[in-house]
Amino acid sequence: MYATLLADTRFHELLLSIDRDLADACRAEGCELCGGRLHSARYPRKPRGRACRLGPEHDQRFSFCCAVDGCRSRETPASLRFLGRRVYVAAIVVLIAILRHGATDARMARLSEVVSVDRRTVARWRSWWRRVFAATPFWQIARARFMPPVDQHRLPASLLDRFTGDGAVPLVALLRFLGPVTGGAGMRAR
Ligand SMILES: [Zn+2]
Repeated sequence: MYATLLADTRFHELLLSIDRDLADACRAEGCELCGGRLHSARYPRKPRGRACRLGPEHDQRFSFCCAVDGCRSRETPASLRFLGRRVYVAAIVVLIAILRHGATDARMARLSEVVSVDRRTVARWRSWWRRVFAATPFWQIARARFMPPVDQHRLPASLLDRFTGDGAVPLVALLRFLGPVTGGAGMRAR
């Protein structure tokens, strides 16, 4: 059951370690605008929806600032933990939207014991997947990779179904796939 992952510190540690790798790769490339060196400019985030205790390093989003005077461009690498500016961790935004799809009240009740998300928020996320995400340039291109085509009316469940493996593997693969839309300028998400 995916909901139990949210209470598993190893799952969150895995996401953090992947975020570190993504941040290292971003930094190694330098400034996108001028090629200058990037300095660390992490910013604090207090994401909701994590059902376990984690160290303070989990409350920071990796970000960089160009060291060149007159540029100072900010680069925020892709993340498996943060989906744009959403206040909930990315895994929750995926999982709740999936569980809500045809979810029974019992399943919602069990999940809301782990994470408190009201029905209006859930409805907004589901609408985001189908209307906003489905219309992004990223998805318009990326969806061509899937054959047969992913059913857009069943997003994100239909997308998660395409990633195979045991335990957390499909979810981590999906979060990694979503990387390009998680950056600072990548997508406006509330
Ligand atoms: Zn620069």
